[in-house]
Amino acid sequence: MEQRRRIGWLLLFILFVYLASETLVSALIPAPVVAADATRLRVICLEPPAILELEAESIRMEPDMGLEPRDHIAIRWSPGRHFVQRAGQPDLEVEGPIHLTWSGVATWRDGKGPRGRERRDIGSITLTEIEGKRKLWVSVELEDYLSGVLAREMGAGFPLEALKAQAVAARSFALNAAARRRRNGSPWDLQGGQADMVYRGLDSSSKIMKALRETRGLVLAFDEKILRAYFSATCGGKTRDGRERFQDVPAEPFRPVTCQGCEGLGLYRWSRKVDRARIDKVLPGLGKSPLEWQVSTRDARGDWKRFQVRSRGGSWLKADMTRLRGKLGLPSTWITGVAMNGSDVVFKGNGHGHGVGLCQNGAKGYARAGRNYQQILDLYYNQPPLRKIGK
Ligand SMILES: [Zn+2]
Repeated sequence: MEQRRRIGWLLLFILFVYLASETLVSALIPAPVVAADATRLRVICLEPPAILELEAESIRMEPDMGLEPRDHIAIRWSPGRHFVQRAGQPDLEVEGPIHLTWSGVATWRDGKGPRGRERRDIGSITLTEIEGKRKLWVSVELEDYLSGVLAREMGAGFPLEALKAQAVAARSFALNAAARRRRNGSPWDLQGGQADMVYRGLDSSSKIMKALRETRGLVLAFDEKILRAYFSATCGGKTRDGRERFQDVPAEPFRPVTCQGCEGLGLYRWSRKVDRARIDKVLPGLGKSPLEWQVSTRDARGDWKRFQVRSRGGSWLKADMTRLRGKLGLPSTWITGVAMNGSDVVFKGNGHGHGVGLCQNGAKGYARAGRNYQQILDLYYNQPPLRKIGK
């Protein structure tokens, strides 16, 4: 009997130790959020130059073609092929993609003509053609990429805590977007313009470096995945419900919040005169009389979705403001008034950008008022868990 009781206690003890260790282990090991191999990103250049002129130390080209490493290379594109320009010698014709690597920082100009801007990159460049269109992408390490994104999306003039909040949001957005494109078999990961985040080469200002260092590897998670952390310039006082603007976004992190940080900053309140010629181009066939506007559907914040417009006596033309906002030159779809001014149309509204997620000018205002980056992220993404990736 005594023996049996002892065995009973022993089994109970073993069960207790097992349960305790399970709880302990699960508390110590964070749930997997991301494969950390995705930190080298291929960022497509929106305006590749007609001739790529690259300056860097020891530039190497693939295919090899017998070229020695050099400090300057000029490559001209013509449909179907590239030509490597050589002083005093005929151009070297290369078929298929070209891959350039170098050591340290390279300098080159993207864009065309006077729009071309000098930029600096660490990494490599791929030149290729996809479905007859010229493509150039830079392969860059995540943190180098983020330095350029922070410089373009906020700038070193923003307070440090706002830059740190932006760093975490941008890191999360980049990894989510890159993973999605890879799953879809895209040869590149991110687009270097506003469709993803603006990137035109790296930045090394000390405040941006500090913001990245102090948030290194931190991402926002939701449902044990990295969050596609949308952000926009100025929400205008209230952020927008993410599901009103984007498909496939979780509700909880993007529920609307009141923002007092952006009050009076950026395009908090705006008025835009759109001339009649522009209206006629965007909405053709309206006739010449003064216009009447009607909103058909608005979301809870007040953003215009569907609307209709006609010139007096004419028939109504139905249109979608989400699609036309950029073409009309309006800062946001949160339109609070529309009036005719002679033949022109004057729109009034709130905020700048889509209004979902972090408000950049709001982050600026809150950081100035003493909030830290975690408090800022908590506000805009509804207390999302922070996770650390990589080393
Ligand atoms: Zn705001």
